[in-house]
Amino acid sequence: MLTIYPIHAFKDNYIWTIHNQQYAVVVDPGTATPVIEYLELEKLQLCAILITHHHSDHTGGNQELLESFDVPAFGPRNEFIPSITHPVREGDQINLHEISLNFTVLDTPGHTQGHIAYYASNPMNILFCGDTLFSCGCGRIFEGSPQQMYQSLQKLSRLPDDTLIYCTHEYTLSNIRFARTVDPENSKLAELEIAARKLRNNIIPTLPTTLMLEKAVNPFLRCDQQEIIDHVKNKTKQSLTDPASIFTALREWKNSY
Ligand code: ZN
Ligand code: FE
Repeated sequence: MLTIYPIHAFKDNYIWTIHNQQYAVVVDPGTATPVIEYLELEKLQLCAILITHHHSDHTGGNQELLESFDVPAFGPRNEFIPSITHPVREGDQINLHEISLNFTVLDTPGHTQGHIAYYASNPMNILFCGDTLFSCGCGRIFEGSPQQMYQSLQKLSRLPDDTLIYCTHEYTLSNIRFARTVDPENSKLAELEIAARKLRNNIIPTLPTTLMLEKAVNPFLRCDQQEIIDHVKNKTKQSLTDPASIFTALREWKNSY
């Protein structure tokens, strides 16, 4: 039985920990202390570290963990992260036999130039996508182009509908606020807002989300929907039609929202 547990870090980061009651893998350890505490509490043995991109809130604890544990640290080949021991890129397979999981690496540039995501399809479809796809939103475009981010999100949206999406930040409520502005008639979105607010009032994570839900509520995956297109047109006073341009305008809009 696999457990996927969110270790809280900083203001709104989750360090996802995948374990089978014996061995554990952590994703994006921005800090080491809460990871070490959790491993000790649950009597787990760390067996690998997965990193999605170079930002310090995703990598800051890696070196310290490696000093305590002799484990591989996987991360993007196309970024400079000194503490990574196993650089990987699109199509690479990572066989974590201790927890019987086999991840496929996906290149998802946009937030950063070399950003990667980790996808496994057995025993269930799970995705660790760092700061690419969020519940009801997407990462800021710091290094890549909007076109790249759009293609990365399109790539993720082609995964199976029941894929569980584990992103690194709890941004859901503020993402929903923006989504409601650009997609006000969406009843699924209204339902999600109520559910997410209830969870957050009890300090429960809104994650993971599922791809099926995101396709129904996430404006950044819905740039081909007339409702979204109309709102973007109204806002920009430009007659944009193709989804990639709508995406670009939507992302810019959210930056200043
Ligand atoms: Zn980041
Ligand atoms: Fe981040």
